[in-house]
Amino acid sequence: MSLFELEAALRFIRENDRFLVVSHVSPDGDAVGSTLAVGLMLGILGKTFTMANADPLPRKFAYLSGYDEVRLPDDRSAEEANYECVIAVDCADYERIGAAARWFSPDKRILNIDHHPTNDGYGEVRLIRPDAASTTELLHELIDAIGIAWSKPLAECIYTGLLTDTGGFRYSNTSPRVMQIASRMLSFGVSGYQLAEWLLEIMPYSQMQLLRRALATLAFAADRQICWMTLTMGDLAEAEANQEDSGGLVNYARNIEGVRVGLLFKESAPDEIKVSFRSDGSVDVADFAHSLGGGGHVRAAGCTLRMPMEEAVGHIVERLKGYLT
Ligand code: 5GP
Ligand code: MN
Repeated sequence: MSLFELEAALRFIRENDRFLVVSHVSPDGDAVGSTLAVGLMLGILGKTFTMANADPLPRKFAYLSGYDEVRLPDDRSAEEANYECVIAVDCADYERIGAAARWFSPDKRILNIDHHPTNDGYGEVRLIRPDAASTTELLHELIDAIGIAWSKPLAECIYTGLLTDTGGFRYSNTSPRVMQIASRMLSFGVSGYQLAEWLLEIMPYSQMQLLRRALATLAFAADRQICWMTLTMGDLAEAEANQEDSGGLVNYARNIEGVRVGLLFKESAPDEIKVSFRSDGSVDVADFAHSLGGGGHVRAAGCTLRMPMEEAVGHIVERLKGYLT
């Protein structure tokens, strides 16, 4: 980010009050960590603020400070649905704020803090840096610039975004800078091994039941360069799984030797299929997902199709075969 962008963001925060902090639908570790880090920062600065998300935060992030304070779209009074100063974090496009946008005043001004290369540049003030591994990496710099003291709860938010968006410090976005910030967060009391175990290794029983069903559907195309799995609403019901249990399962398709693109097709509602893409880096799945109305990163992207499962699989696999060649 340029100094100018950072200065504009600092001014937006310093010169205003009564903020609404939002992130994207189906929030992940970076979305949750970023939302709560901004909340902690605003609290320390003596600002009034509310945090909201279109969807409930996954329970696995309940150890983060402020987790219980994030509110759902319908949980508001008339005067509350009127925020003029919005801080949107980790949210690549305006639509992905989802129903949390119901809290915005018609006169809203948005500070857009994000690291997605597909960010469409919404908002009056923008702090967008695609070379950052996570939005919390950007917030680390912002917090230093604004000059508040570091604490363990704040460091846990930053570390959570770094850990989850780098796949446990393994993806290609794991830069020297990421490791420096992670190291610094450990020095403020974050327990790196406990968070790694909790967020990357432990799996709820219902998620393992869902994985068992997903693996039973493994299918391949294009000389096993494409691999996919499907999960129907029936599978989710039988496994007694919730929406968050499907997170990460797509990696099992992508991690098979020789596979360039792994996909998970999940029925999120009747005739509504949420597709997750993971690539080995040789295919830009953000570009591919973008052509289907979605987006994301080179190696991890997604989109939603409104059609039956069979049609969605056929449509995407055929297009992807053409895209690979
Ligand atoms: P996931 O497969 O875990 O849901 O999403 C992987 C990545 O793709 C996320 O980092 C997210 O930014 C992006 N993504 C997933 N679904 C969508 C979508 O419908 N629209 C856009 N713009 N990005 C998406
Ligand atoms: Mn992120």
